[in-house]
Amino acid sequence: MRIEYWCKHCRHLVGELDEPGWDLMDAQRHLGLSSFSAVEQAQISAYNTNRNVLYVRTVCEYCQHALESYPEVLLEGKLLQ
Ligand SMILES: [Zn+2]
Repeated sequence: MRIEYWCKHCRHLVGELDEPGWDLMDAQRHLGLSSFSAVEQAQISAYNTNRNVLYVRTVCEYCQHALESYPEVLLEGKLLQ
């Protein structure tokens, strides 16, 4: 299956991983998702059955930097890129 990391703030593709031998359970275990509750898993990841892709929400370096430098910008939801 394929794993894609997307920034939850600017919605850019941060990284991707191709692991043909993994199924969803393997991916969740390797990514450490199995320690989260089902609700938390649903908040940070989404699985597309048709494409066999697991989408993981993360924060890219740009947004991480912006978050650290200007937390008030993100809190107001005004960050544009
Ligand atoms: Zn970002």
